[in-house]
Amino acid sequence: MTTAVPQEILDALTDVDMPKLPPEAGPSEAVRLAGVEVPVYRAGCVVVGSGAAGLRAAVEMKRRGDDIVIISQSAWGGTSACSGSDKQTLHTANTADQGDNYKAMARAIRSGGAMDEDTAYVEAVGSSRMMASLQFLGLPLPQDPLGGTLRYQTDHDEVGRATSCGPRTSRLMVKVLAEEAIRLAVPFYNQTTAVKILTEGEGAGRRVAGMLAMRAGDRTEANPLGIAIFVSDVIVLAAGGPGELYRDSVYPNGCFGSLGLALEAGVELVNLTESQFGIGTRREGFPWNLSGTYVQAIPHIYSVDADGVEHHFLAQYYRTTQELASNVFRKGYQWPFHATRMLDFGSSLVDLAISCETAAGRRVFMDFNRNPLPVPGDQPFSLERLDEDVRLYLGKAGAGQEMPIDRLKHMNPLAIELYRRYKIDIAADPLEFAVNNQHMNGGIMVDTWGRSNLAGCYAVGEAAGTHGVTRPGGAALNAGQVFGTRAAEHISASGRAKRAPTGDMSAIAEAGITELLAVLRSESPLTVKSIRSDVQARMSEKAGIICDRESVAQALIEARRLNADIRAGGVAYGRVAEAVRGVQWRHMALASEAVLSALDFFIRNGGGSRGARAICDPQGESLPHARTGPLEHYRFRTEREEDRSEQIVVRLEGDEIRLSKRTNRAFDETARSFFERDWPAWLTGRIYDVETDE
Ligand SMILES: Cc1cc2nc3c(=O)[nH]c(=O)nc-3n(C[C@H](O)[C@H](O)[C@H](O)COP(=O)(O)OP(=O)(O)OC[C@H]3O[C@@H](n4cnc5c(N)ncnc54)[C@H](O)[C@@H]3O)c2cc1C
Repeated sequence: MTTAVPQEILDALTDVDMPKLPPEAGPSEAVRLAGVEVPVYRAGCVVVGSGAAGLRAAVEMKRRGDDIVIISQSAWGGTSACSGSDKQTLHTANTADQGDNYKAMARAIRSGGAMDEDTAYVEAVGSSRMMASLQFLGLPLPQDPLGGTLRYQTDHDEVGRATSCGPRTSRLMVKVLAEEAIRLAVPFYNQTTAVKILTEGEGAGRRVAGMLAMRAGDRTEANPLGIAIFVSDVIVLAAGGPGELYRDSVYPNGCFGSLGLALEAGVELVNLTESQFGIGTRREGFPWNLSGTYVQAIPHIYSVDADGVEHHFLAQYYRTTQELASNVFRKGYQWPFHATRMLDFGSSLVDLAISCETAAGRRVFMDFNRNPLPVPGDQPFSLERLDEDVRLYLGKAGAGQEMPIDRLKHMNPLAIELYRRYKIDIAADPLEFAVNNQHMNGGIMVDTWGRSNLAGCYAVGEAAGTHGVTRPGGAALNAGQVFGTRAAEHISASGRAKRAPTGDMSAIAEAGITELLAVLRSESPLTVKSIRSDVQARMSEKAGIICDRESVAQALIEARRLNADIRAGGVAYGRVAEAVRGVQWRHMALASEAVLSALDFFIRNGGGSRGARAICDPQGESLPHARTGPLEHYRFRTEREEDRSEQIVVRLEGDEIRLSKRTNRAFDETARSFFERDWPAWLTGRIYDVETDE
């Protein structure tokens, strides 16, 4: 028996109001540097970003008595607050039935390779605590009558470790964490964008000294760009992923992340070759991921050309109606594009087919009022003629309704509600969508406490490069919570964030401001707009799901040229408010060169297709087939086993991107803790290994 869910319950899970921020505390002083009157704020630790990861770090530190502030470009912006899917997923150890096995979970998390084994275990073992604490704060994760958490299977998850509060799980996480931050009186500076990390010392002794930010609230005649100094020995970068890198993107608008910011400060990045791409509606409209029940309802997918003619393009790829419909369904839990799933008529042929249609200038839609049309010469669609796994799932879900929209309504009414909120009625009209960039698996290289190579600089959430080639759906949100907590524990144990530094750092700040202002030049031919379209088009066209050696190499040459031009001529901006975008686009241009450098290095050294990208090569061993014949153009290199055990590290030295490789950190599954032996290390804080920071 199914229970109809009243509208107000659906509304509460889709319209999630955010709390009101407290008034901002003023600066402690003001100084005149580089001709600008700059306010100075001081804190024990500055958390950059107020997504789920940054808020978690802030709350955990504040509870431990640290002196912290949050600065955020946009308090309720970013992916946690603004993104989701049909059931936005949190991946945690199974807390129902017979429970879970953390070691097995860690193996599953790192199964795609290029992931540190200890990190995978940290995420697995930390997941129960992070979930329980979110529940304690009020996150409404669904339970059975005896307290087990309801679970389902998601991408790269053979066990069923996924759970969800509905389409807006991460927004609800932000809400409960923000309420806690406000309750704890964490100072919050909104509309405040970090633009430069300030450091002191040289070589191995170099460490964080603070941060330059641009704040609308600090704009004055004597400080037209609103430059502000945050003096702090510790920073936590929680600025999310580089969503603006790609034109075809399901990130919300204005996600820049902190890769460029970090590179400029000499922070090492890792695994930049690894991203996620999949189907969704783009940020030009309402950016949303179309995984789970959207496709498990099996809508008809078609394209429309410039003359308005419809094309049943998936029928050119799949051999039977059953195969076509079953693979559309599988996109539900095989959501990200994966090269090997193009083989044997697998589900990533759907992504390939869609991206070919869009590249040919056709618009692609899913229609919930039509079942898939038949493959020519084959039988019509029937719920009785589906692959066994698909038929069983729909049977168990009770989704035997005639039309996709009714199956969707039955399985997940919130999925329909959600689009209605944005004036899109998928029950009435077909939904336009595409293959988009969704997630950066790589990022700032960190250890198991979230520490980067720059002393005093931590990174958590999507800013950190903790994921390997694949990640189970929901592992991003889990990693942000686990590492937000771990970084906070470590910072607290170091004692460095207990009080704000009081010293004078005018010289360092002045040099930083001078460098910042040198980039922003009204006469430059390079504008915010021109850099954006240049970077985004190149990344989407040359570094999307289909890559090859020549086009990536060429894209890298162009990206290097753009950065050389920026260094030579600066970035022009229009209104004063656009100046911060000028700095962010300079950072994105740098991030784009870093991604392309890593990708070019990987491909040139024989790297094969893995994760999000197929590396096409006429000599490649793998050949996808369509109903109409072999897809020679998409012949690709298979993955090389040895690449799984290492990661590509990227850093900026002067104006040059430097690349190296390192082996994944290991985790000894046979090692066991022993209470009496190991307790002293915990009691004395030796587990935090803080001496290495001194
Ligand atoms: C459509 C979509 C669906 C997704 N679905 C899932 C899912 O089901 N499960 C899952 O685990 N993951 C999912 N992800 C990924 C996941 O949502 C993100 O990885 C995660 O929310 C990132 O959280 P974060 O706190 O690191 O960053 P964000 O939530 O992006 O927050 C970044 C914060 O930093 C601020 N900021 C940025 N730059 C600066 C700066 N220079 N100075 C100051 N502040 C700055 C922003 O304003 C924002 O407050 C999805 C992503 C998308 C796009």
